[in-house]
Amino acid sequence: MTRNRDSNSPTPQPASPSAPADVRMKGFAVRQTVDVAWSWIDAQVQPLSDEQVSLDASIRRTLARDIISQVNVPSFARAMMDGYAVLAEDTQGASSYNPLTLQVLGQSLPGAPYGNRVHSKQAVRIMTGAPMPDGADAVIPVEKTQRVDDQTIQVLADVSPQKHVGYPGEDIQQNSIVLTAGRLIRPQDLGVLSSMGVGQVPVIRRPRVRIIVTGNELLPKGTTPRGYQIADANGPMLRALVERDGGIVTNDQIIPDQPESILAAMSDEVDVVLVSGGSSVGQEDHAPRLLAEHGTLALHGLAMRPSSPSGMGTLDGRFVFLLPGNPVSCLCSYDFFAGRAIRKLTGRSTDWPYPSAFGTLERKLVSQVGRVDYARVTLRDDGHIVPIAIAGASILSSTTRADGFVIIPEDSEGFAEGTKVQVWLYG
Ligand code: AMP
Ligand code: MG
Repeated sequence: MTRNRDSNSPTPQPASPSAPADVRMKGFAVRQTVDVAWSWIDAQVQPLSDEQVSLDASIRRTLARDIISQVNVPSFARAMMDGYAVLAEDTQGASSYNPLTLQVLGQSLPGAPYGNRVHSKQAVRIMTGAPMPDGADAVIPVEKTQRVDDQTIQVLADVSPQKHVGYPGEDIQQNSIVLTAGRLIRPQDLGVLSSMGVGQVPVIRRPRVRIIVTGNELLPKGTTPRGYQIADANGPMLRALVERDGGIVTNDQIIPDQPESILAAMSDEVDVVLVSGGSSVGQEDHAPRLLAEHGTLALHGLAMRPSSPSGMGTLDGRFVFLLPGNPVSCLCSYDFFAGRAIRKLTGRSTDWPYPSAFGTLERKLVSQVGRVDYARVTLRDDGHIVPIAIAGASILSSTTRADGFVIIPEDSEGFAEGTKVQVWLYG
């Protein structure tokens, strides 16, 4: 049983009036706003429970709890330079005109300390990272000394107490919070965790995601299209998007446009179900009705372009997202809704998972009040943003030619040429 049964399982809700059970061949009576859909997701979806994973497996996972160091790193005083461990006071007044002579007792290497105490006028040869011998309180770098013989050096400069000495806890203090909950773990975090002796890391569980690719016209991914059949573009794209957002894809099989097969796939033991295709109001669009009959179709039909035939709801503890089959709509709908939910389940931010930049529109971008638009654009080196000309929902290559997208908000009729706008960058 891997399905989400945490306290944050979605609570069944009555279908809203705008999500009638069967809208096939009738069209959408009302379209819900993107904001309403976001509010539904944000209210319904909470991060999953946590689990312990090995240090190596914790990369790019969300840290579930604050990490407090049980130890000082380093745990001993150590040399920060190659040279000699000395008593700082012995070096006072030393210079190349006034070399001071010290007796060399032995050496301290990393992992192999010098065992005895250093007294006045004595020194121990020491390497970077090696433990400071008792009695010594500074390191004089080797280039500020002159070797006389194996047992004797001359000091050519003075050092103050603690010079070139790393003290216990200098890197990480015992009992301090080193990493805070909610952080996406980075490569250098693994180094820090390891240096503190942490081998198991508490992270948020990754949601299991079933991708259901529907369409009788579809051939498996990577198959050369033939006759009236087309190759599946959405399956591999959705898999990569889910993995980017921290989910685990359990299955991305193509399912024929057949209610029983779609319902069976929707009932997989997962946290999230994505249905690609058949999400609208056509005769072969079964998923919305199935969800309404067997679970909750909370929203269906959104005031946006592309992706208006998107839907979402719950089915026996799973979140279900209905994504239009047109590949651009599928990408857009995923990023707006399904991806937001998956990111939140993994404890990540619901923000766009894209960096952004600002640029000046070279041509106007037209929209309509009451609708959110997702416009594919290129960003030129001179900072100009150029809308992609052929940008229908079925033209997936518009998203590979584009550098990113501009969101035209619901309350806007679009942006005039010359407007400075924010562009979200795919790359
Ligand atoms: P649908 O949403 O099922 O009505 O599909 C809308 C359009 O997208 C149709 O032209 C489909 O052939 C196409 N389409 C659906 N699913 C895919 C897919 N997985 N890959 C590429 N095109 C698709
Ligand atoms: Mg279809």
